[in-house]
Amino acid sequence: MTHQIEVSVKCPNCGKSLMNSSVLVDDMPSIELEATIENKKGRIFLSQIYGSYNKIFDDVDDVANAVVQCACPACHNLLPTQRTCFCKAPVASVNLELGGAVNFCTRNGCKGHSLEFENPDDAFKLFLDKDESRYL
Ligand SMILES: [Zn+2]
Ligand SMILES: [Zn+2]
Repeated sequence: MTHQIEVSVKCPNCGKSLMNSSVLVDDMPSIELEATIENKKGRIFLSQIYGSYNKIFDDVDDVANAVVQCACPACHNLLPTQRTCFCKAPVASVNLELGGAVNFCTRNGCKGHSLEFENPDDAFKLFLDKDESRYL
């Protein structure tokens, strides 16, 4: 069995789920965000699989190295940014449905653009949830 971690996330502003089950990335429901790239507004759909860089662009161009302004599709507030990535783009944060938060770099194509756990215990918790049957 693979140790694949799936993260379900919600908006830190309004608490609404960001998961979209009609747009699949990596054969899983995606994380939907309102995205502004170089003054064009559209959507991006991120993979919910931890460590996957797959994503879908809708109405916005996949501009290499552009910084993506990410907002919640429900409340339209920008996602909070916690810090600056080594590439100097802001790092946005979303909340895990199970509690805790994950961060990702908003620069398109940056290796920091994978989901990153703010608290490593959260990742551990998801590992345990996933493999629960093995520990019982
Ligand atoms: Zn929201
Ligand atoms: Zn970065």
